[in-house]
Amino acid sequence: MERRTDAAEKLDKISETMRNPTEPTPRRSPSINRAIFLDRDGVLISNVFREDRTLGSVRKANEVIFNESAETAMNLAIANNFEIFVVSNQPDIERKLINYGDFTEIDNLLGNRFGAISETRYCPHSGENECSCRKPKPGMVYDLAAKYNIDLGKSWMIGDRSSDMQAGHSAGVNIICIPPLVCGVLAERTCKFPDPHLEANDLLSAIAIAINQGDQCA
Ligand SMILES: [Mg+2]
Ligand SMILES: [Zn+2]
Repeated sequence: MERRTDAAEKLDKISETMRNPTEPTPRRSPSINRAIFLDRDGVLISNVFREDRTLGSVRKANEVIFNESAETAMNLAIANNFEIFVVSNQPDIERKLINYGDFTEIDNLLGNRFGAISETRYCPHSGENECSCRKPKPGMVYDLAAKYNIDLGKSWMIGDRSSDMQAGHSAGVNIICIPPLVCGVLAERTCKFPDPHLEANDLLSAIAIAINQGDQCA
């Protein structure tokens, strides 16, 4: 039998109830079939330094520092007929480095701030081989694309790490790498994805690229 942590089971439950409420899935228009898949940490909110000075994801709601231009960027995408999804690895859940209540509180903060997000998917796993959702695997992208009938060839992945680029590349979406936000400031670019991909200076520029290139391809 597959090993399941309590946290992972709770996560499944919360994913169902929070992101798939009883009301119909919120869609701006049934004709929208292209999406922007966003990484969370370093993109929508800052990574932070831990006490040992290592860089990581937030573990408490009061550590959350939002990307100040993310809301504007998402609204621009929505106005240009993109669906917005967030796909995020959260291995601290399985590693029990984040309390489940804190995780939910942080997710709620994002949900309240970014009304443009249609759905957020989290991979709570920490191992490389135990699941199909952990980026660089494309599982979360595939799941959302199937659920929302998204044309992956017209869609984009924007992230700050090679694993984001690989997940997008494997799923067949266009990929753009941006520098990570660290403690509210754009840090040095860390993405070392080997295959050709686009780079932008920040999230807003990346979304502008997606909009412009999408128009050219339409
Ligand atoms: Mg990231
Ligand atoms: Zn996973």
